[in-house]
Amino acid sequence: MPKQLENGRDDSIRQPALEANPRCRFCDAPLEHIFVDLGMSPLSNAYLKLSELARMERFYPLVVFVCGQCFLVQLEEFESPDGIFTDYSYFSSYSESWVEHARVYTNMIVDRLKLGRSHRVVELASNDGYLLQHFVAKGIPVLGIEPAANVAQAAIKNNIPTKIEFFGESMARRLVDDGSGADLIVGNNVLAHVPALNDFVKGLKILLKRQGVITLEFPHLMRLMDENQFDTIYHEHFSYFSFHTVRQIMAAHGLSVFDVDELSTHGGSLRIYLRHQEDSSKPTEKRVDDLAARETAAAVADLETYVCFGEKVKQTKRKFLDFLITAKNEGRSVVGYGAPAKGNTLLNFCGVRTDFIDYTVDRSPHKQGHFLPGTHIPIHHPDRIMETRPDYVLILPWNLTDEITAQMSYIRTWNGRFVVPIPEVKIL
Ligand SMILES: [Zn+2]
Repeated sequence: MPKQLENGRDDSIRQPALEANPRCRFCDAPLEHIFVDLGMSPLSNAYLKLSELARMERFYPLVVFVCGQCFLVQLEEFESPDGIFTDYSYFSSYSESWVEHARVYTNMIVDRLKLGRSHRVVELASNDGYLLQHFVAKGIPVLGIEPAANVAQAAIKNNIPTKIEFFGESMARRLVDDGSGADLIVGNNVLAHVPALNDFVKGLKILLKRQGVITLEFPHLMRLMDENQFDTIYHEHFSYFSFHTVRQIMAAHGLSVFDVDELSTHGGSLRIYLRHQEDSSKPTEKRVDDLAARETAAAVADLETYVCFGEKVKQTKRKFLDFLITAKNEGRSVVGYGAPAKGNTLLNFCGVRTDFIDYTVDRSPHKQGHFLPGTHIPIHHPDRIMETRPDYVLILPWNLTDEITAQMSYIRTWNGRFVVPIPEVKIL
């Protein structure tokens, strides 16, 4: 008798991930330790249309593990990357400070590597061309690789050559066979989003020319822990890296970190500079050893450092709810500013809906008129704040606080106050 008839149900519909113990995305050790459990949450970029509000919404567990062997902090993959990234609502060009960050980076790296018309720059997750446009303006040949079709089309429209594809070993081989090796590979905020981490890093090794350089930017796990940035955890963000762990991963694939910058972007990021292990033309900078020493002092290779993070997160939730409950009891109005992925983690974890926050606003026309996933808070044009004069404006993309408080300083004219939720709730 077929198995599914014996017990009255069809086993084939169960997800394999639920049956097997999850394993580390890098070193394949079984994942036995929880870093933090943020409950059930929808995908943080699954913004809803009005017509979708009455339908069932998919929620997935947001449970983060830490590998006891390599200390890679990671999520299981619950949704196929296609489902997550083919219609991605984040257009990098809508953030002024991010476009400026890209311009400053371009000038620095072109100067440092003496890049010119004979070189080629490849950017992975090139989004709408916010970065490559600066290389194009200098006459340097570029190629963007971007799996989200809608943002990639925006780049192509602006004459930035872009392939709509996921990057990995097989794509890297095809590019090299076509004579498209890279002198510089740029990956800003892509490493964390890669489900097949080893395949991606193998691709980097293959695509890089013999004396080429790779720069990768990603949020620094040590800062996430120090500054309690648990809202930067979401399903689309599979891995969270310390410098210690990322160096191990790169070394396993024949790449060496020879320099590192600590950046203020996304609440504290690292930019690592990689070369082939065989390339002796680039000495390792002192900054590499300095950061490694600081991480050792912060016990990043000690499991205990990771397993106590969850309690800190629960405390932050209680303080945030305390602020909201008090504000509402006093009859004050609270609205949001921004509709970033991190806001969705925070609001879903804390169970905050339109009972506390009337609406949020976002500058991106692709988000306006939509609703936040899970919490169904409406997203309006920023002018709405001027019209409704709320008492509190909660800044969800707290990493852009300076930019936003400068743009929105007019809320002071009616004694409006800004509030940031992280590292813990604070009225500015
Ligand atoms: Zn591991």
